[in-house]
Amino acid sequence: MTGVILPPATIGIIGGGQLGQMMALSAKEMGYRVGILDPTKGSPAGQVSDFQIVADYDDVEALNELSRRSEVLTYEFENVDRDALNEQSDAELPQGTELLRITSDRITEKKFIRDDAKVPVTNFIEVNSPEDLRKVTFPAILKTVSGGYDGHGQWSINTVQDIVNLEKDFPDMQLILEQVVNFKQELSIMVSRFQDGQIVTWPIVENVHENHILKTTTAPADISLTLKNKIEAIAENIAESLKLRGVLGIELFVADEEVWVNELAPRPHNSGHYSIEATNVSQFEGHIRSIVGLPIPKIELQSPAIMLNLLGDELTQAREDLIHHPEWHFHDYGKLAVKPNRKMGHITVLGTENGRKLKEWGDLHEQRN
Ligand code: AMP
Repeated sequence: MTGVILPPATIGIIGGGQLGQMMALSAKEMGYRVGILDPTKGSPAGQVSDFQIVADYDDVEALNELSRRSEVLTYEFENVDRDALNEQSDAELPQGTELLRITSDRITEKKFIRDDAKVPVTNFIEVNSPEDLRKVTFPAILKTVSGGYDGHGQWSINTVQDIVNLEKDFPDMQLILEQVVNFKQELSIMVSRFQDGQIVTWPIVENVHENHILKTTTAPADISLTLKNKIEAIAENIAESLKLRGVLGIELFVADEEVWVNELAPRPHNSGHYSIEATNVSQFEGHIRSIVGLPIPKIELQSPAIMLNLLGDELTQAREDLIHHPEWHFHDYGKLAVKPNRKMGHITVLGTENGRKLKEWGDLHEQRN
């Protein structure tokens, strides 16, 4: 694609969850029209968009309808039907489908990061039979190669008994076995690349997970300048190797000055939500700018920030406590049902003292299981 897609063109987003919602809000702010494809009527993104096509993601006719009604297409998750996307020719697809091919399969992704971008990844083996489970030393994590999220499709292997149990009930899916990394910090960085090849990175942040689900993000991460430079170079290298368009989230493990890439997300990422309030251009606006071909300034962090995810009934509690917290930037995704362990919203606060109080609130009201 060359040229710029200016407002009020229509941006079609495949997927109507919170990432689609925040992309749509940024696009609407800039004057674009937005259409959503999602099977749930009144999806979070559908609520803030011009139209929603209610159909399954793999419904080829529905995808074609979205592309007919849009000038440009994007997606909020990686498991999109690539063949259907390749076949449509009505709308631009600046991100292409190669990015999806690489990031929707953990094995392809790890090999790409290690062999093409020349960046270290965790030790892993492809699992083809139950016997393969014995090839890595403890502790290890067995993961589904595609489709897993927030700890779904992951099994910890810490003892021989864990292996015996898994052998008895061997998951009927493509699997990868990873060595557990004894990391000191989990970090992430968002990167984007623009039509003219310019690359921008957002500040490196530190993430805390619980039960494999992100709990808090602290911006900026407390790391040395050497590590910061190293991680920014990794992000630029990956963006260039992919000829990236749109935003890519990169999750990293760090021990001292050593870095391993854990995972790539070909879209804005949960750990970048703080950027809505804390940077000059949010990851969502950056994503929209990149896919429509608009330039972007250097990203500046305007204040330290903390983001807390709200899972299940933590959202209900946060709604009740809103009256006491004028400092909260409260985001409620408008999901129709409150479900345990499901991301329902998030809170961002600016400043370290507000951040400390938000973390305390998060620990007090935690509803994870
Ligand atoms: P993932 O779905 O691969 O992002 O994994 C979710 C979370 O599980 C990560 O953010 C880590 O906290 C943990 N985890 C996953 N893989 C590893 C690994 N190889 N070593 C240590 N922790 C891991």
